[in-house]
Amino acid sequence: RHCFGNGALNDLNPEQLAAVQHGTGEEAHDQRPLLVIAGAGSGKTNTLAHRVAHLIRQGADPQRLMLLTFSRRAAQEMERRAGGVLHKTLGLPATQAPPGLPWSGTFHSIGSRLLREYSPRIGLDDSFTIHDRGDAEDLMGMVRHDIGLAESKKRFPLKGTCLGIYSRVVNTCEPLDQVLDGIYPWCAQWEDELRRLFGAYVEAKQQQNVLDYDDLLLFWAEMMGEPALARELGERFDHVLVDEYQDTNRLQSQILLAIKPTGQGVTVVGDDAQSIYSFRGATVRNILDFPGQFSQPARIVTLERNYRSTQPVLDASNAVIGAARERHAKNLWTDKSASQRAQLLLVPGEAEQARWVADEVLRQREAGSTLKSQAVLFRTGSHSAALELELARRDIPFVKFGGLKFLEAAHVKDMLAVLRFAQNPRGRMAGFRVLQLIAGIGQATATRLLDAMGEAAEAVETLAQFTPPAQARQEWEQFATLYARLQGAQVAWPADLELVRDWYLPQLERLHDDAQVRKLDVEQLVRLAAGYACRERFLTELTLDPPQATSDESGVPHLDEDYLILSTIHSAKGQEWKAVHVLNVVDGCIPSDMATGSAEDIEEERRLLYVAMTRARERLHLIVPQRFYVTQQAGGGDRHLYAGRTRFITEAMLEKFEQITWPPAHSASPGPGAQPQPQPLMQVRARARAAWR
Ligand code: ATP
Ligand code: MG
Repeated sequence: RHCFGNGALNDLNPEQLAAVQHGTGEEAHDQRPLLVIAGAGSGKTNTLAHRVAHLIRQGADPQRLMLLTFSRRAAQEMERRAGGVLHKTLGLPATQAPPGLPWSGTFHSIGSRLLREYSPRIGLDDSFTIHDRGDAEDLMGMVRHDIGLAESKKRFPLKGTCLGIYSRVVNTCEPLDQVLDGIYPWCAQWEDELRRLFGAYVEAKQQQNVLDYDDLLLFWAEMMGEPALARELGERFDHVLVDEYQDTNRLQSQILLAIKPTGQGVTVVGDDAQSIYSFRGATVRNILDFPGQFSQPARIVTLERNYRSTQPVLDASNAVIGAARERHAKNLWTDKSASQRAQLLLVPGEAEQARWVADEVLRQREAGSTLKSQAVLFRTGSHSAALELELARRDIPFVKFGGLKFLEAAHVKDMLAVLRFAQNPRGRMAGFRVLQLIAGIGQATATRLLDAMGEAAEAVETLAQFTPPAQARQEWEQFATLYARLQGAQVAWPADLELVRDWYLPQLERLHDDAQVRKLDVEQLVRLAAGYACRERFLTELTLDPPQATSDESGVPHLDEDYLILSTIHSAKGQEWKAVHVLNVVDGCIPSDMATGSAEDIEEERRLLYVAMTRARERLHLIVPQRFYVTQQAGGGDRHLYAGRTRFITEAMLEKFEQITWPPAHSASPGPGAQPQPQPLMQVRARARAAWR
């Protein structure tokens, strides 16, 4: 149905085609960097996939293409799309797979691969492990304690805040005092202490041979500071292509610039109206400044035709973004006319909202739309709680993205920590976690042991020679044997993880009452492992871009079923569904009351609503509960708040919407209690979710 259907270039409009063919064929003389800046649903990602396919068809070596996307899922989707186009146009037999894209992924994951490969040349030990946010926070807390800040300074910022400040400084390349004044004014008094803390934190990471997320970009950028290495990398890749460029940060643009100073072979696509990650240090300046950043000016292509949404959906979305303070010069049009306007639903509270969505989702399914073609979007992971219960109660299967993550489950963390500890014996966060799983080993013993751990080669010996407390002798021997086997070269991946599982299951039984439920995740982790080439890739990819739901990308059986997507707006970026239901479109949620600080913050919330609305192809429902819980920061405690419709939809815009008030005419939903009990499977899933910490 879409241009991927037959994969031919003649499905592209002239502007898309220009972007796809830029710098090739008759235009080979024009090697300017390319910027495609265009509104939602105009085919940017599609164009990028076509460009990749076109380059390969023209003889480019897939090994020499670097494709940077926002998530691993997006990278896989791009690979699939480009592969589909190639398959058709190269006339490959159905049985032959199209060439893959070995260097596609997020900035962080490509960075970690390059760092590992070049580590000997930049003084990095190649057995480094990567800390996720949780580990990084814990290490920050530990360092803080070690240098005596925890005791002496009662109101010193929490470890999470400290990490936030540190991360912001690294990603924006701004000085600490500036970040403090601008974003964390209440921490400005601690500038000296923070500087000391961050110094010690960096030191600790180096001693333990661990990198946090930010280091992956930071070290990559530093590596590019070596002229010889920068040249080598620039020559190694003929093309660097980036999707969603509006959400990159300063470090990322520096890296891009360093790989390709002339801009030859650089393609970026994005939409300034969809920039929604400035809270993480991304800056829309990257895309705005792109045209003049290289040694030659960029070619700019804009796309104005929207292929995703119907005209009424587009009208409503355009009204919201049209009122933005910053002008986003976009003139989107579509030829998909429809009579159905976007709907604005007023409901009394969250319970009715949940009921309405469940009703509507089922009604759409009756009308022939699968659950998978619909999505429910919300500002924050916790906002879907009432809906999740309602869906479970009615046995409507769903998968949630962007909320609690599979890898945050304590038992999944335990398993991964064992692998990490084997890979890098100096990593103390993993070490602590693992050693204390052993019955009879407490914090003091674990500390003593970790202090004695040296390099990988000696680690096995250190553990073997250690005399455990008497009550831990047998458990200790089992663990030391496991550790030695994991260090040995003879165990192949993913058999490593099976060994870990066999060792871990008895600990799980001992530690958790709900071990049966947790076991499901453990088994799922083992299944997931089979999809990765080696232990290192598994650990890295999972840490950088974890599966966002228990069933995400893992080939578990129930993925074959039809299921509804629940997602935060941030995680829905770049995607589309036939019907989209947006929860809590009220002031205090969108814009979030956490963000109501500056005018810039508010504008980012407006763009967030725009991103949510532009995910819809045909049906768009914005739901406005009149009453909902928010955590009042100032007053303290939870309070019922009477919420009004979001300020981003003004009176003047209401004509773009069909307004529906509660109870809707077709509402025939019986109240709670009249519904059948959830099936066992749903209960297990609900409990498994509750097990995540
Ligand atoms: P976003 O800003 O949300 O990331 P986008 O600009 O990347 O959107 P795509 O996701 O690439 O847009 O495309 C939106 C939809 O339009 C997809 O379903 C895609 O297949 C379709 N599409 C894009 N270009 C064409 C075309 N030339 N003909 C038909 N359909 C198209
Ligand atoms: Mg896109």
